[in-house]
Amino acid sequence: MRKPVIAGNWKLFKTIGESVALVQELTPLVAKNKDIEIIVAPVFTALSRVCDAIEGSNIKLAAQDCYWEEEGAFTGEVAPKLLKDAGCSHVIIGHSERRQYFGETDLTVNKKAKAAIAAGLNVIVCVGESLAERESEQTFSVIETQIQGSLSGLAAEAFTHVVIAYEPVWAIGTGKTASDAQAQEVHGFIRRLIARLYSQSVADAVRILYGGSVKPDNVKGLMAQPDIDGALVGGASLKAESFAAIANF
Ligand code: PEP
Repeated sequence: MRKPVIAGNWKLFKTIGESVALVQELTPLVAKNKDIEIIVAPVFTALSRVCDAIEGSNIKLAAQDCYWEEEGAFTGEVAPKLLKDAGCSHVIIGHSERRQYFGETDLTVNKKAKAAIAAGLNVIVCVGESLAERESEQTFSVIETQIQGSLSGLAAEAFTHVVIAYEPVWAIGTGKTASDAQAQEVHGFIRRLIARLYSQSVADAVRILYGGSVKPDNVKGLMAQPDIDGALVGGASLKAESFAAIANF
């Protein structure tokens, strides 16, 4: 059985005070929910304070990115061990916004994933095709290239620390969700690909999240799909009520 994951990506929103207020509002709304792994990903500056605010709750903490070096002359970067130090159990890597605006490639995603796992973090590795790629029927080849490149060289044992997020770029922040069937088609493809690249047992165990305009009113249909194990939520995670409704689907 794969425990579902509902993760909220707060992107570049909210001050420290607003982040703490949001988790304080969220905590009682999801407190009884023991069946789902609930994760929030605030901006770097709010991590430590949010960590204090969620202590003793069933909410876990993720960062939105990391670097692959442990330390050194890398101005502006944050190392995985510093994320652990700030209280993170997870880190999102390779979000399409990082791929699109900050030059993230499968190679850098791969280096980051390996470094984060080595530092004891769980990684949420994002993949997804653009609208042009979907329309030119390249979805499966794009996803295959991203998965192979992003997860290259990971040992099968490392997969207990890997969550994959399938996020079609055309569905992120656009209000356009992939239909349940469209999402399931790609999730099934990813699971078969993991079975082929690693093993059936790795494929059976790995959680694959869907991301792209997930809202309280579409989460149920997505979660009913056999290969969808949760959601990575952007916009709807910024309000306690809507994120709780998704987590408590
Ligand atoms: C995301 O940020 O990963 C995301 C899926 O955003 P949204 O839910 O707003 O589409």
